[in-house]
Amino acid sequence: MTVDVSPILGEAGATLELDSDVPLESIAVGDTLAVFEVPPRIRVTLAHAGEVLVLTGTVEAAARLECSRCLEPFALVLNGVIDAVVSQIDDTEQRGDDQEWYPLDGEILDLLPAAESALRVEVPFAPVHDEECRGICPMCGCDLNRDSCTCEPVAENRPENPFSSLKDLLPPEDE
Ligand SMILES: [Zn+2]
Ligand SMILES: [Zn+2]
Repeated sequence: MTVDVSPILGEAGATLELDSDVPLESIAVGDTLAVFEVPPRIRVTLAHAGEVLVLTGTVEAAARLECSRCLEPFALVLNGVIDAVVSQIDDTEQRGDDQEWYPLDGEILDLLPAAESALRVEVPFAPVHDEECRGICPMCGCDLNRDSCTCEPVAENRPENPFSSLKDLLPPEDE
């Protein structure tokens, strides 16, 4: 998804508004796969800022994810923010700490890397369909949101810390 930036190259302060669909079907982050059944939408402004072009705006996507606890699919809206510098050569002094850099190929800018990067950081590492999701029983595999089982809790979920009684024997912290 490329843009011809030549209309604003001649004039400092000139801007170009862009609003289009992003041809991106999914993004994988670690074990998480965010699927876009509808193409994400990018809305950005490209501004000629003297030495470089500045690209700012948003990319919004309705993602389908799988709950990391119970594996149930669910929908999540991702709102990515784009704040980047665009130039032919990356000069780190031209951009702020939070700004990314994207290359200009002649007078052509590819918006896809900026859109993908802005969405990527919004994909949760361990998505949950509900903060209260009880997940799947590790012993029998039943979905604990819908069913219950009589499996014994696994050892690591044991609430009592074997060292907690030792703490009572220690002097208070401020001593
Ligand atoms: Zn869940
Ligand atoms: Zn069980």
